[in-house]
Amino acid sequence: MYKRVLLKISGEALAAGRGFGVDAVFIHQVAKEIADIARAGCQVAVVVGGGNFFRGVAEQAIGMDRVAADHMGMLSTVINAIALQDAIEKDGLPTRVMSAIEMHEVAEPYIRRRAIRHLEKGRVVIFAAGTGNPYFSTDTAASLRAMEIGAEVLLKATSVDGIYSADPKKDPAATRYETISYMEILRLGLKVMDTTAVSLCKDNNLPMIIFSMRERGNMLRVVQKEELGTLVTA
Ligand code: UDP
Repeated sequence: MYKRVLLKISGEALAAGRGFGVDAVFIHQVAKEIADIARAGCQVAVVVGGGNFFRGVAEQAIGMDRVAADHMGMLSTVINAIALQDAIEKDGLPTRVMSAIEMHEVAEPYIRRRAIRHLEKGRVVIFAAGTGNPYFSTDTAASLRAMEIGAEVLLKATSVDGIYSADPKKDPAATRYETISYMEILRLGLKVMDTTAVSLCKDNNLPMIIFSMRERGNMLRVVQKEELGTLVTA
């Protein structure tokens, strides 16, 4: 079993088909899966996205300044982090939200050593506000934090069960990769995550597993090293 993982959950996933906001039922399902892996003895850190509320690039298109839009995007990840914290604590597990943008009343500031200490004590750590910088994504924040805390693997939970040669929702001939390298992802232009995040993982040899969290128990299966989804190697 993996001892320490970084789990990336997109904001869109938390909206669970509603398109906007947080789905009250689904967030508890996600929280339960996280609690299950933590109880099984795996140290879990989570990076949450914010696309269910606000996405910098999209808002820029309607005439907003990119930096202002990204600030709003980062704040939206804090909303998700608090919602997830609440749901995990309802499941009886201690958690800490650590924000890359300081807001003492709401969350702890991100301090690497303190994050590691929380993990060692069995607390689920939720990283909010991405990297704290505009022009980045929460996928990049996930790769960065995974490396900082020494996670063995980056787990990207999505609504699709891995990486496909084309969009499986549009192209029935699309096939799923069991393994693929970061270089191939870049070469084929697969929309798995943005290129900054891909290069960061590639340059630092951080493996990633992309899997579907639609089926219950998948998170535990992945942490127990069952072959699921797509393994991305450096
Ligand atoms: N964002 C940012 N810097 C970061 C992480 C996120 O500026 O380090 C902003 C950016 O505008 C992004 C938004 O926050 O669009 C929400 O994050 P993201 O799109 O990665 O969320 P997800 O797609 O995972 O829901």
